[in-house]
Amino acid sequence: MRRLLRALWIYVAPLALPWVILYGVNAMPPAVPLARTGIPHERYARDRCTWDCHNRGCRHRPRLPAVISGDRGLFGLTIRGLFALGGAFTRDRRAGYGAANLAVFCVAWPALMYGLWVLAWRQAETLRALRKGR
Ligand SMILES: [Zn+2]
Repeated sequence: MRRLLRALWIYVAPLALPWVILYGVNAMPPAVPLARTGIPHERYARDRCTWDCHNRGCRHRPRLPAVISGDRGLFGLTIRGLFALGGAFTRDRRAGYGAANLAVFCVAWPALMYGLWVLAWRQAETLRALRKGR
């Protein structure tokens, strides 16, 4: 029984729990109506970023170092990489970028995290067995 519960925790829970939580959140009435049909238009504000920064480019002084948030840093590298990957899916630049976002952040990244989760548990079990001399 203990082995079954452990197997459920290691292999099934990471795959099932997000769907359970998603179902639970969607089953509840929304606290705030947030039904967007497009990217919002918002005026520029001097003291903070708004949707204007998203839509037209940000003119504010970055709070993170350029190596992370700059167009030549990690941010720019990621965006260029997503556009390049999207080019492998379709010739439509925007659709390819969207598909690349889904492929990376909704499929590849969760799959990597799941693989690392299972690997870590297996290694922990191996170490536990070695300590016990099995
Ligand atoms: Zn901004």
